[in-house]
Amino acid sequence: MLGRIGFIGLGNMGLPMAGNLVTAGYQVTGFDLAPASCAAAQAKGIAIAPTATEAARETDAVVTMLPAGRHVVAVWTELAANLGPTLLIDSSTIDVDSARKAHALFAGHGGLTLDAPVSGGTGGAAAGTLTFMVGGSQQAFALGRPILEKMGKRIVHCGEAGAGQAAKICNNMILGISMAGVCEAFVLAERLGLSHQALFDVASTSSGQCWSLTTYCPVPGPVPASPANNGYKPGFAAALMLKDLKLAQEAALASGASTPLGAEAAQLYGLFDKLGHGGEDFSALIGFLRGQAADEGHRHGL
Ligand code: NAD
Repeated sequence: MLGRIGFIGLGNMGLPMAGNLVTAGYQVTGFDLAPASCAAAQAKGIAIAPTATEAARETDAVVTMLPAGRHVVAVWTELAANLGPTLLIDSSTIDVDSARKAHALFAGHGGLTLDAPVSGGTGGAAAGTLTFMVGGSQQAFALGRPILEKMGKRIVHCGEAGAGQAAKICNNMILGISMAGVCEAFVLAERLGLSHQALFDVASTSSGQCWSLTTYCPVPGPVPASPANNGYKPGFAAALMLKDLKLAQEAALASGASTPLGAEAAQLYGLFDKLGHGGEDFSALIGFLRGQAADEGHRHGL
């Protein structure tokens, strides 16, 4: 046995991540508000505790994987009031301010803390191939790294408290903007009578090259594994992209950074989500830009 870990938040991401810790040889005790998540966790060899505090008691480290900043601050506040010094790792995607607030709850308490959001989605969580972007002290990182390595394949120390969340939202702001740009280029190509394949062959080997084009191409054909070939089933849901773009905008406002393209991308995905497309892959935005979703918008009075 490698050690004992408390795992709070056993949803779509948390459950397979905690499962990988069990497979690696840790003794994992979990807690989730949803009885169905607890039952699924028990089936994977995770013991279930009646509260977050009980799941975290007498463990070597605690991991939280929760929906948003307010959930993380609430759980970490409870843990700070009830636990002795331990290592706390939050892997949720949350706003930088809440992440720093969570770290501060354990300052002067002897606990070591990391923000360690992930990219790689549910597929990466299941396969143990997530990328972790980590913020916190060198000492906390050194202690947390072996645990994160059981759930991911790239572990990047980005800096002090909050730096992991900062890296995550900056990266996803690039992604939201670049996908919108690639979608626009394909829509323009269609109007100009240029085939999808021709645009792909040129742009994928020219200065327009980017991940949104070469890995996640938003039209069917050129990249067979992209969600466009599978009815735009996610992949990475548009609602999650919207969440990350909103976090980027909050951070830009709070820090005084000028991010007009990030703001535009947040608006686009916000409208797309309002039209009922939040559960589709984020590359499905191309339908909105073709005007299909805009027509729907008129019908819905948006
Ligand atoms: P999810 O909604 O499936 O899981 C969240 C779990 O937290 C739920 O089971 C919920 O019951 C539980 N929960 C909420 N409040 C709680 C509390 N106070 N105590 C205990 N449990 C509580 O969400 P998810 O898809 O697993 O995502 C988790 C985090 O990871 C989010 O911040 C998300 O943005 C981020 N993320 C998700 C993906 C993805 O592809 N799903 C990818 C990268 C990052």
